[in-house]
Amino acid sequence: MIVTRFAPSPTGYLHIGGLRTALFSYLWAKKNNGKFLLRIEDTDKARNSVEAANAILEAFQWLGLAHEGEITYQSQRDEIYAQYIKQLLDEGKAYKCYMSKEELSELRETQMANKQRTMYDGRYRDFNDTPPEGVEPVIRIKAPQSGTIIVKDGVKGDVSFQALDILDDFVIARADGSPTYNFVVAIDDHLMGVNQVIRGDDHLSNTPKQIVVYEALGFEIPSFYHVPMIHNHEGKKLSKRDGATDVMAYKEMGYLPQALLNFLVRLGWSHGDQEIFSMDEMMELFNPEDINKSASIYNTEKLDWLNAHYIKNSSNSTLAELLSDYDIVLTSHDKKEIILDILKDRAKTLKELGFLIQEILQTPTSYDEKALKKAFKSDSVEILNAFGAKISASSELHLPSDYHALMEEVVSEMQISFGKIGQPLRIALLGKLSGPGLDSIMAILGKQETMLRIANAITFQA
Ligand code: GLU
Repeated sequence: MIVTRFAPSPTGYLHIGGLRTALFSYLWAKKNNGKFLLRIEDTDKARNSVEAANAILEAFQWLGLAHEGEITYQSQRDEIYAQYIKQLLDEGKAYKCYMSKEELSELRETQMANKQRTMYDGRYRDFNDTPPEGVEPVIRIKAPQSGTIIVKDGVKGDVSFQALDILDDFVIARADGSPTYNFVVAIDDHLMGVNQVIRGDDHLSNTPKQIVVYEALGFEIPSFYHVPMIHNHEGKKLSKRDGATDVMAYKEMGYLPQALLNFLVRLGWSHGDQEIFSMDEMMELFNPEDINKSASIYNTEKLDWLNAHYIKNSSNSTLAELLSDYDIVLTSHDKKEIILDILKDRAKTLKELGFLIQEILQTPTSYDEKALKKAFKSDSVEILNAFGAKISASSELHLPSDYHALMEEVVSEMQISFGKIGQPLRIALLGKLSGPGLDSIMAILGKQETMLRIANAITFQA
């Protein structure tokens, strides 16, 4: 069974780079009827926060990415890690190193002065004497001192690391007994049964160390897929300004979960030239073997385009539900259907959609001056008065076509062009010249509100 995981460090919010690897891991597990697990890597007590961990979970909930079973919190597993440290010490695969901080920095300086790579020199590897007093030892693992470690990577191919160049006997437990990052990742992935690791390629350089741990403990090495980073248009690592921000900020901006997931699945992965993927299609088609070898480029226009697509194709009741998060209460509005029908293909985000709705539902308190000048002619008041009277006299006004018929009547009776009524009426109703069809707007507003807005504009202009 394929078991994948997402293993965020809760040092901050979940950003879209992390979410993308989570999505890839989720899809790959689901496609194979496997398991997608979640592990919170919260061992760095100074930098982690419970709020950040909760924010990550909140984002997962919003996006509907469900993980299997209990969440693993590394901070609760010290005893487990301690057992493995003891095991490696007992087996002679790790050892206590009594080098003091001063000695270590001395060694560093000498190595730097000699233009050598700074690394631990193995001085306590075979130490059998009486330990120096007053030094709490760290535990170091015996790493291979020669040869090659090959990371078999499903995205990058075989990546070779020369042991001599990249590895020293690295610390697996600090002087206070706390285990180190690469050590616990390998143990947890093994104990959780993770056999396919999909993660950012910023972790590729950690992988040889993790392989050393796997081998020392006799664990089977998982398959790795290291996913290239997301870049901005200048080819640089995505910054906050480019959109590398909290996933929940995308909710605030009015993006639909499905649009964001669809956007992310296409960053670094493709299936022909298909752009729109339902969740089912993503699951059916995604394969980490097809992840691009090069970095992908973040493109806001693409995200907006996808979001507009998903808004347009959402049912009105779904949209009304979603809009309640943006303080737009439409769920019980009797004109909900017309409102959304005329507006949902005009908005790139839910926030924008909410704004367009408000623009219609709020009685204008001012009028665009330029528009007034352009559209209000000497006969406009008379025309609006005539139209207002017709509305007032009609008892059956429901549909856009009912209002349209009245406009037609005024046009033919007064022998004027349609623009002569349309433009001042538009200003009366919306305060400006742009917006959706007038007949629909009036059907949304209803008879009383339409009459009120016409009267307001006449008073203002008179
Ligand atoms: N905790 C690491 C991070 O947030 C991920 C580790 C991993 O995926 O192996 O970058």
